[in-house]
Amino acid sequence: MDMEKLVSLCKRRGFLFQSSEIYGGLNGFWDYGPLGVELKRNIKEAWWRDMVAAHDELTVAAGAPGTYEMTGLDCTIIMHPQVWKCSGHYDLFCDMMQTCRQCKKLVRSDHVREMLRESDWVQALLAEVRCGLDATAPAWEAEALLPWVKKTCRKKAPGFAAVRDPEAAVEQLRVAQLSGGSPLTLWEALARLATPEPAAGLQLPCPHCGGDLTEPREFNLMFESHAGALKSEENRVFLRPETAQGIFVNFKNVLDSTRVRIPFGIAQIGKSFRNEITPRNFTFRSREFEQMEIEFFCHPDTSRKWYEYWRDRRMKWYVDLGLAGDRLRLRDHAADELSHYSTGTADIEYAFPFLDAGEYGELEGIAHRGDFDLRSHMEGKLDPTTCPLQVEAGADGKPKYRGSGRDLAYRDEVTNERFIPHVIEPSAGADRAALAFLCEAYREDQAPDDKGDMQTRVVMRFHPRIAPVKVAVFPLVKKDGMPEVARDLYRALKAKVTAFYDEKGAVGRRYRRQDEAGTPYCITIDGQTLADRTVTLRNRDTLEQTRIRLDDAVEEIAARVQ
Ligand code: ATP
Repeated sequence: MDMEKLVSLCKRRGFLFQSSEIYGGLNGFWDYGPLGVELKRNIKEAWWRDMVAAHDELTVAAGAPGTYEMTGLDCTIIMHPQVWKCSGHYDLFCDMMQTCRQCKKLVRSDHVREMLRESDWVQALLAEVRCGLDATAPAWEAEALLPWVKKTCRKKAPGFAAVRDPEAAVEQLRVAQLSGGSPLTLWEALARLATPEPAAGLQLPCPHCGGDLTEPREFNLMFESHAGALKSEENRVFLRPETAQGIFVNFKNVLDSTRVRIPFGIAQIGKSFRNEITPRNFTFRSREFEQMEIEFFCHPDTSRKWYEYWRDRRMKWYVDLGLAGDRLRLRDHAADELSHYSTGTADIEYAFPFLDAGEYGELEGIAHRGDFDLRSHMEGKLDPTTCPLQVEAGADGKPKYRGSGRDLAYRDEVTNERFIPHVIEPSAGADRAALAFLCEAYREDQAPDDKGDMQTRVVMRFHPRIAPVKVAVFPLVKKDGMPEVARDLYRALKAKVTAFYDEKGAVGRRYRRQDEAGTPYCITIDGQTLADRTVTLRNRDTLEQTRIRLDDAVEEIAARVQ
């Protein structure tokens, strides 16, 4: 699927707009349009309903080690700064970043290669030398790069070191190639051309202008603000980078105010903010986004079983809503990828069309977090730079950050056992889910137009539960009493589901517009309706048209879109 076509459909049909577009937009921020807001709301509602509201705490769910309860929370975006110190975000929530000395733009260090590969001047290089420029590629002539440096780079990458003295740079590359024995990789070649004095260490160039990048340095991703009139250190606050911490700090409140008992989960949906260095790939990496998170508290002895349950349960949720096939996968982290406190983490990933073949992007992470979070908020943290490991109960040494001092342990009423619960965290992004559902839904196929000729149509095949509009109602023509009947039906439908009314233009054109919006059903009121009170029900995916009774239409649609 062509990502550009989807991006343009999203704008044209009102799924997604760039934030503040009339002022040139703001990088990393997106607005949901009239169709997009319905799609995202449906995803969040499906998640809440399936995970929380409709959860049956009396019956053992398939694959679960026992029954469990679910409840919800809605916490503030700004919390006490100590929350972020004890959670580790204040010291450790960083990405490595480099600045271009020429164009001054910032780049995330682990994105440099991907961005270079995507940049049109490097693409032009790959086309020029017609080989992969990797270790397995046939030998290539350094001189063949001269026209590329002189033409493409001068225009598109003016900061590239080789632009200043192309002959000398290419000669240096030739010498390196001869002395190296094996062909240079793309990255070696670029680094040689980008570094005037290679003896000081090779460095990849800036993907934007080809200029030289500074050494990588840490950059904390939390947005800062000040609570109160004074912009002082004491008033410094942070916009939450995840919703999870609000749940941990309210753990005791939930226990004390409800009758939930372990095992149980607390769910929250809400905005999170990360000052991503290089927001990219449409909404995939945004600076403001929404998360749907569960913290599931259980006994340490059964925590592994609960982790496995949640990992499989969450994967099934995406499959049930239509993300099937080889584009979706569940990937268990290897031991060396795990955080020091985690005994298991898995990602649910989707092969987004903007990624290279074989690459996947994270939709959701499911982590076994042990007692790390509750313990941190109880006891505080040692200096994470000198002692990254969590303070053990009874360990010596004063924590750098004091915890709340509250007892966040749990006492089992039956056994009287006291323990700090273990936590399983399924953490999903509503925007990444929406993007995956948009990518998965996009199809082009053939359908007959008003004259019966086959035409290419764009159709968004959303699962009916998440489709922004469930049904559209059309009078075939704007006369003979058809609009009146259609409007009455529309009003009746609207009381139950999201419905749309349209009486303008040829009916085939109206069907096409609903196909692009992903509306699963259209109902047309025609001459026959007035005679026998039946209507045409058209199915978006099969294009099948059947006649149903007008008086059954509301119940029929409500049942089909559940
Ligand atoms: P990534 O490695 O892609 O930056 P992450 O591992 O940091 O993601 P988590 O901290 O596990 O992400 O956050 C949980 C979920 O929140 C992610 O799976 C994703 O769906 C969503 N999310 C995280 N960062 C962003 C972002 N910048 N834009 C949109 N969604 C995000």
